[in-house]
Amino acid sequence: MARPQPQGIKFREPPIFERGTKGRSGASLSPLDVPDVDPAAHFGALARKEAAGLPEVSEPEAFRHFVRLSQWNFCIDSQLYPLGSCTMKYNPKINEWAARIPAFLKMHPETPDELAQGSLEVMWHVQQMLSAVSGMDACSLQPSAGAQGELTGLMMMRAYHASKGRSPKKVFIPESAHGTNPASCALNGLVAVKIEKNPGGVVTPQEVLAAIEREGGDDVCGLMITNPNTLGVYEKHLPEIIEIVHGKGGLVYGDGANTNAIMGHARPGDIGVDVIHINLHKTFTTPHGGGGPGSGPVCFKKHLEPFQPGPVLVRKDDGTFAFDRDRPQSIGRLRAFYGNFGMFIRAYTYLREMGGEGLKMASALAVLNARYLWAMLKDTYAAPVPEACMHEVVLSDVDLEKATGVKTLDVAKRLLDYGFHAPTIYFPLVVPGALMIEPTETETKETLDEFIDAMKAIAREAQEDPALVKGAPHNTVVGRLDEARAARQPRLRWRPQAG
Ligand SMILES: *Cc1c(COP(=O)(O)O)cnc(C)c1O
Repeated sequence: MARPQPQGIKFREPPIFERGTKGRSGASLSPLDVPDVDPAAHFGALARKEAAGLPEVSEPEAFRHFVRLSQWNFCIDSQLYPLGSCTMKYNPKINEWAARIPAFLKMHPETPDELAQGSLEVMWHVQQMLSAVSGMDACSLQPSAGAQGELTGLMMMRAYHASKGRSPKKVFIPESAHGTNPASCALNGLVAVKIEKNPGGVVTPQEVLAAIEREGGDDVCGLMITNPNTLGVYEKHLPEIIEIVHGKGGLVYGDGANTNAIMGHARPGDIGVDVIHINLHKTFTTPHGGGGPGSGPVCFKKHLEPFQPGPVLVRKDDGTFAFDRDRPQSIGRLRAFYGNFGMFIRAYTYLREMGGEGLKMASALAVLNARYLWAMLKDTYAAPVPEACMHEVVLSDVDLEKATGVKTLDVAKRLLDYGFHAPTIYFPLVVPGALMIEPTETETKETLDEFIDAMKAIAREAQEDPALVKGAPHNTVVGRLDEARAARQPRLRWRPQAG
C-alpha cells in the first residue's frame, strides 16, 4: 500500500530577494584590468542610473535557493509522471553527457560546413534513423516542437498542392485530436473540419467519407490523424481511410508526437501516411516539461521532398556532409541554424543504444504497462474505451463523481499526496471525466502497483471522506492554487513590500 509521501517542508521560505544583506557577495572577481568607462557615454539614456536591485547573498544562500525551488517542483527524476499523450519517459543520463561533449556543445552556429562535419554527420544519421522508424523517405530536423512540425508538414502539403495548380483548403481531423492540429491548420490558412465520432471508437472509413461528402466532396487538402489515437487505440482502418483521402486528391498527415506505442512494429509510411512529425522530447528521450527544449522533426515521402524546409542537410558523393541551399521549391527556413541541436545528440545516443530490436521491445513494454493499469483499474474507475489500449489508458471517474461529488481534478490533486504526478485530465474531450494515464515502458511493476494502490485508495477515500480528497493536496509545499487567478493575474516578479 503506497503511503502519502511528503514532498517538502511546509513553511514559507523568504524569497531570495529578502535574504542577504547589502554588500554580501558570493562571487570573487579579479580587479578591473581595463579602463573604467562611463556607461552613459556608450548607452546614453539606456544606461542604468542605479543598481539593478539584485539580491546580495552568499554563494550557499544562492544555491540553496535554487536547489530548494527544484525540490518543490515535481520531477520525473524522483517520481512516476504518467502524463498521458505527453510521454514523460526515460531520460537516460548518458544522453546528458553526450549532449555536453565540448566539441558539440561549444561549436559556433556559424561554423562553416567543412569544419562542422562531425555535427552534421550526427544530424544526418538522426535523419536516416527517424526516416527508417517512420517508414518515410526523408526527414528534416528543423522544427522546434511538435506543433511547429505540424505547421511545417501542412506548409509542405500546401506547397505540394500548389505545384499541381490546386489550393484545397479543408483538412479533416478526428474529434479526439491534439488541440495543436486544428491550430496548425488555422495558422496555414486552412480550414479544420471535425470528424465527429463517439468516444472509444476508432475512426471508420464511413465516418471519413461522410465528413468529406458533407463538405461537398472536393477541396480536400488532407487528413490529420494520430495513431494510436488520443484514446490510446490503434486506428485499424487507417489503410482504407488513407485510400479514401488519396482518392479525393488529399494527403495524409500523421501526428506521430508519441511514436513509442508502435515503433518497430508498424510504420506510418508503410500504411500510406505522406508526412508525419515525431517529438524528440517525447519518444526520443529529451527531458521535457517546464518549458524545456522541444524538437519536432518531420519525416515525409519522396513526393514531398522538394518542398521540405531548406537548407537541406545532405551527404555528398564524396561522403562529406553539407547543406544544400539550391532548393527552389522549398517552403523555406523554419528555424535558425541547425534546430535544437542538443536534442539530436540525445536522440542519436538513444537510438544507437537501443537499436531496432531495443525500440521494438520499448514499445511492446509501453503497451504492456498501459494494459496492466487498464486491467487493474477498470473496475474501480470506468474504462470508457472498449478496445484494448496501446501505450496509454483512458479511464473516467464520472461514476465516482456522481456517487461522491469528488471530481477528476480532486483525484489528480490527491495523487500528488501519494507522491505521483497526476495523469492528464479532462482530455481527450470526448470522454467526460477523463484520466489519461501513460505509464511508459520504463516503469517497473512495483511502481505501477504503487500507483494502482494509490488510485484505489483515492476511490475509497472519495466514498468515506470526500472532503479529504476535495481539499488535496495536503502534503505539498503549496496547496490548491487559484488557477484562474494564476492565469489572469500572474505574479511573476517579486516586488518590495510597500513601507
Ligand atoms: C505533444 C503533442 C503535440 C504537440 O507537440 P508540442 O511539442 O507540444 O508542440 C501534438 N500532437 C500530439 C498527439 C501530442 O501529444
